[in-house]
Amino acid sequence: MQLKDGRQIKNLTTEETYKYLGIEQTFEIRQKENKERAKMELYRRLKLILKTQLSSKNKMTAINIWAIPSFTYTAGTVAWSRTDLQLIDRKIRTTLTQFGLLHPNSAIERLYLPRKEGGRGLCSIEDVCDKEKINIKNYFRNINLPVHQWVTTQDIITQEVSEDQQDRANSVEQLRHRWQSKQLHGRFYTSMHQEEIDTAASNTYLTQGYLFPQTEGTIFVIQDQVVPTRNYTKIIMKQQVENTKCRLCNKAEETIQHLLSGCSVIASTKYLSRRNNMGKVVHQGICLEKNLLKNFTPYHLYVPEPVLENNEMKVYWDLTVPDLGTEHNRPDMVVWDKIHKTATIIDFAVPLDHNLSKTYAEKIGKYEMLSRQIRDMWKLKRVDIIPLIISANGLVLKKTVQHLKELGMHPNTISWMQKAVLLGTVNIVRQVLFPH
Ligand SMILES: [Zn+2]
Repeated sequence: MQLKDGRQIKNLTTEETYKYLGIEQTFEIRQKENKERAKMELYRRLKLILKTQLSSKNKMTAINIWAIPSFTYTAGTVAWSRTDLQLIDRKIRTTLTQFGLLHPNSAIERLYLPRKEGGRGLCSIEDVCDKEKINIKNYFRNINLPVHQWVTTQDIITQEVSEDQQDRANSVEQLRHRWQSKQLHGRFYTSMHQEEIDTAASNTYLTQGYLFPQTEGTIFVIQDQVVPTRNYTKIIMKQQVENTKCRLCNKAEETIQHLLSGCSVIASTKYLSRRNNMGKVVHQGICLEKNLLKNFTPYHLYVPEPVLENNEMKVYWDLTVPDLGTEHNRPDMVVWDKIHKTATIIDFAVPLDHNLSKTYAEKIGKYEMLSRQIRDMWKLKRVDIIPLIISANGLVLKKTVQHLKELGMHPNTISWMQKAVLLGTVNIVRQVLFPH
């Protein structure tokens, strides 16, 4: 056929095919060839993305919007069985493992859950294909032309997908339910849904997505409690382990909980620096806010001055209040407001997930005596005690969010504090278990 602009469209021979939207147009759909081609393209794009320097969240987004759509438009035309799709999802997961993003023992459900719910926000091929099939079916049903109506009577599109949003095998509801009911992985789900936890704040590191993919993977391994501690290796992996006591202190059982916050050998070093790094964020924030500091310093380089003072404020870091006869006379921070004649005792803690409220109450009790003594000594109207608490796994107490607002801190403060805690936790686990 001769076109007006001079180009020609040639006839196809009986052996040749042409592609429309990537699918070969032939008398019948060539299932095998089309399947192979769709898979190859998906894996090619997946690997290209994983080789980039993108952050964890951006990699997941890139896979969702660039790799997976190359595959999903074959849904409803190419006959994928459920097993086919599940195998492809598995292949994607093993590729993520090869690139260090996903530990094989981590909770699979979390990979596919939204980031704001504690997941990593990857689309599953099985689920997007289910959705696509439902879309196609609805498209034909909703058009009243004879050809469309004829298609709906032909049962060409497989009927195996439940059209109820909640019943799809990999719907958010189903994933949530499966994660929750898993014996080991489900513990973190339960912790995250405690009444006193601010879920949105606790998932800040995921929604902001600033972490390296490998670091995010390690945090999930820790939260899912599949870290190869001696206890886990013996009890869960059922391997021969002579001694399940902690390799550092040799006193307690070596569990992930013990390593995260209970080991006496690293209490004064690694736990202390993790807590201080979180505290430094708040110290610098307050001092900038109160004009005691002029310039921002990245927190890992920031060293708080023991005392910073101007006409209105005086801020102490790691103050030891002398000669009061009080046992607890060394809070992390004291902020003295000279104008309003008030002071705030601020103390930081990084406990285990289920100890947040208990730690909060302990801190209040611990500094009650000191707060009264400071009030009398400095002749103040009021002294408040503010414990700021984030768990070793990054869970944020609702009260922490509330206090930061009361202190007038920058909205990103919670994110920086949480980052300090999580990097501290990853650092502890890596150095203890994988020192080389
Ligand atoms: Zn220990």
